[in-house]
Amino acid sequence: MDHLQNYIGGKLVSPVSGEYLGNFDPSTGAVYSLIPDSDERDVESAVQAASAAFSEWSSTSAEVRHDILMRLAALIERDLEPLALAESVDQGKPVSLARMVDIPRAVANFKFYATAAMHTANESHDSVGQNAINYTLRQPLGVVGCISPWNLPLYLFTWKVAPAIAAGCTVVAKPSEVTPMTAYLLSKLCIEAGLPAGVLNIVHGLGPKVGSAIVAHKDVKAISFTGGTKTGEEIARVAAPMFKKLSLELGGKNPNIIFADCNYEEMLATTVRSSFSNQGEICLCGSRIFVERPLYERFKRDFIERVSALKVGDPLAADTDVGAIVSKQHFDKIMSYIELAKAEGGTILKGGIQHSAFSIQHSKGWFIEPTVIEGLPHDCRTNQEEIFGPVVTIMPFDAEDEVLGFANSVRYGLSATVWTESLSRAHRVAAKLESGIVWINCWLLRDLRTPFGGMKESGVGREGGFEALRFFTEEKNVCIRI
Ligand code: NDP
Repeated sequence: MDHLQNYIGGKLVSPVSGEYLGNFDPSTGAVYSLIPDSDERDVESAVQAASAAFSEWSSTSAEVRHDILMRLAALIERDLEPLALAESVDQGKPVSLARMVDIPRAVANFKFYATAAMHTANESHDSVGQNAINYTLRQPLGVVGCISPWNLPLYLFTWKVAPAIAAGCTVVAKPSEVTPMTAYLLSKLCIEAGLPAGVLNIVHGLGPKVGSAIVAHKDVKAISFTGGTKTGEEIARVAAPMFKKLSLELGGKNPNIIFADCNYEEMLATTVRSSFSNQGEICLCGSRIFVERPLYERFKRDFIERVSALKVGDPLAADTDVGAIVSKQHFDKIMSYIELAKAEGGTILKGGIQHSAFSIQHSKGWFIEPTVIEGLPHDCRTNQEEIFGPVVTIMPFDAEDEVLGFANSVRYGLSATVWTESLSRAHRVAAKLESGIVWINCWLLRDLRTPFGGMKESGVGREGGFEALRFFTEEKNVCIRI
């Protein structure tokens, strides 16, 4: 069985403890590789390696950083197929999704920040009348921590690591212990690309052991974290008194608002995707679907028909639409929410059960049928708490203000989708939604230059574009009397 290794100081190394954790294939429920059960000693040597590398890396030219990041992008592109297979086995997602979305996006992340590093400029203020010129330097922070979740493993890991390195920081990163494989494969590509030792260090292991040691380390200047709101709270509690910079991308409970004047076919096809892509395990999935009453019955009928046609199955099969749930723990959590929905008076229109075994090999895998629930009020727990699985609720509404109240009633504010052909309504509703990201007549259309992040308990700060490069730098203003 494969033993994954940490990547510290440019080398692949075993954990100090010598202990390993089982890494599960969610489609079979079996352990298929072992990952380092690292602890604060591994984090300490990673921080030391990153500290030792910082002086040289932070003074390399933007061009040198660009060239190395582009080499990494090219290597990921070269290995797209094995990386997509690895992501699918590790996470449970259909391999087609990993091929089309996860791995290409990791390539795009490196390309985007490689080129951004070449195009950053600092402001200068000509203080006329005071006989002075001000200029603002943006200097890399130092050693930074990047902690990422299991749902889009390489995609979100590189979304943090690429801007950090491009900005001139050195990094101690932790992928989720649940999906470590592609970060491990990336460490091999970093060696092949000639990334100088210590610029990126990857420590595998459990959040409360490795993640918390990164957050608490006095020499780690900033934490870029994506994950659950509860973990974000814990990180903020530890990091805030140390005055670390924090970027927190947290949970969501996103509304999908469908007005009767929408482009129906486009809306229907996209709503199936926005509900069940990656088994609903995308922080941007729309899990609360509000439909204007005149359209409700038609939508319900057609939506159920389309959802019934989704194929749940082997993540590695070409025709699979919905793969396995990432872990037994998460499977149990989702199933408990389905039970809660029933207890709260919801009617299961579709799914609501474990998907029955379709092969002996997969008989112990964690599969859930895409689930559609109706009959629940907007303020019940099922409609207020993040489930993060293939479960959506549908609810009718009568008026714009009413649906805005429903949509904004949750503690989250990550993303929202609105379907309408009325331009003025689109602008009006977008302005009033309490969401960091609003999609009108589309979903998950991403331009990496745009600010990405959530309001309320969905996070603090924004990723994307130059925002992420700024996050990893400290501003210093220099004023010169002429
Ligand atoms: P978690 O919060 O459980 O974990 C995220 C990462 O934090 C993992 O690497 C985890 O380690 C680590 N971690 C856990 N505890 C600590 C700790 N005390 N200190 C430091 N690090 C810790 O999230 P999930 O992995 O379960 O991911 C799902 C969540 O992520 C959902 O809530 C989803 O909405 C959110 N998410 C948000 C996105 C956004 O952009 N806003 C995008 C994608 C997901 P380990 O798993 O190894 O124990």
